[in-house]
Amino acid sequence: MDIEKIYKESNALLSGHFILSSGHHSRNYLQSAKVLEDPKKAQMLAEELAKIIKESGIKAETICAPALGGIIAGYELARALGIRSIFVERKEGVMQLRRGFEVAKGEKVLVCEDIITTGGSALEAADIMEELGAEVVGFAGLANRGFCKRYGTSKEAKPTCKLPKDKPFFSLADFEFEIYKPEDCPMCKEGSKAVKPGSRT
Ligand code: ZN
Repeated sequence: MDIEKIYKESNALLSGHFILSSGHHSRNYLQSAKVLEDPKKAQMLAEELAKIIKESGIKAETICAPALGGIIAGYELARALGIRSIFVERKEGVMQLRRGFEVAKGEKVLVCEDIITTGGSALEAADIMEELGAEVVGFAGLANRGFCKRYGTSKEAKPTCKLPKDKPFFSLADFEFEIYKPEDCPMCKEGSKAVKPGSRT
């Protein structure tokens, strides 16, 4: 499956001058919401990801996604795996399990995001699951920004990857873009103004 082609066709792979959530600047931005707005594509991507997970032998009983970005990807992955789907969300900056969702002691949970950059939110979700007594069996994301090591590939994780090295991270593709500190950004130097993609339209 040509993941990059699917993202491009959906206008989910943007070119321009962007401010990433980390504060870095980049010429490219992945807007997963644009792929997931088509339920058929969301289902197709999740089924492909589910296949990789099944083949790995990792078994999960529940998907937990960090809101908001992970919810659709997590829900579709849970459907493809035939398991339960829950999400955690930030309240006053702190990630929490709310809305009556519960996890049992020892319940096997896979944490799912739409895109994994450094994996910060995914790790927060995993920490909550473990605090509640669940067992985190791995991580998943439709796309990998190239900081973390994708299951089945040999490319090592960068030091900024926050995902634990002893757990598998399943993803469909690596999307590696160069990122710049604002003070080193070549586009800024040319006088162009960076935009936050989420608020652009
Ligand atoms: Zn810039």
